[in-house]
Amino acid sequence: MELGEKFSRLLKQDPIIKDVSIYLLLTAFVLLCACTSGSETNSIVIPPSGENSTENGNNNNGNVVQGCIERTPPTEVPVFDTGTTFPEWSSSEYVLPYAIGSTFFVNQGNNSGFGHSGFWKYGYDFTMNIGTEIFAARAGVVVHANDGTADGNPNGTNLITIQHSDGTVALYSHLTNNGVLVQVGDSIKQGSLIGLSGNTGNTGGLPHLHFSVHPCSGLPGLPNETNCPTSPVTFNNTEANPSGLGTWQCYTALAFEKDRS
Ligand SMILES: [Zn+2]
Repeated sequence: MELGEKFSRLLKQDPIIKDVSIYLLLTAFVLLCACTSGSETNSIVIPPSGENSTENGNNNNGNVVQGCIERTPPTEVPVFDTGTTFPEWSSSEYVLPYAIGSTFFVNQGNNSGFGHSGFWKYGYDFTMNIGTEIFAARAGVVVHANDGTADGNPNGTNLITIQHSDGTVALYSHLTNNGVLVQVGDSIKQGSLIGLSGNTGNTGGLPHLHFSVHPCSGLPGLPNETNCPTSPVTFNNTEANPSGLGTWQCYTALAFEKDRS
């Protein structure tokens, strides 16, 4: 039996092996890209390489699933981070960063491994098609706005950072090319349209929005970099999320009081 045929049979037989195998292939591909692009000097590394497994909203046909999909989480991926004290969700300053009434799948949440560990452990990845409208999770002022990277390019990330009144900063990354709809210095109201999701940077090939909150603005790859890891965050306009959003869970954005800031 040819090696290719053996591999193909293996994939058909065991969905776990399939997922792991594809992840290994993807990892190899990302590493290859990283090696061959070593001369890049303006690469923005937010979030880090390898942030996605193929355990995500991909329906195995290469299409991103909008909204919720039914599946059983693998045991090695924690659904919730129960070792952290999160801000009270019902009085959270944050709303989900997508349109009211829409539902998206969290393919990576807190401490879910891969790219969401250590520095990035409290980030969320929402699987969504390129071009999905992104709204400010909290009011603030735009600190960084990087655009111009083509979708599919792993060497740069189109992103927006918004600093809130308490100094914390929200990161919205992997936006599509020309998907940054705000400028540095703009004052942004909560719930305002700020960008369009995409597939730029280290997405693992999966279009999604990465959202995380940090205590300061000096994120890796951005000016004035400081040690500014992710902070736990909850959302007030969806179902109860006392331990943050769960990996492999779906969340619908509900109406909220728009003047909250
Ligand atoms: Zn992420």
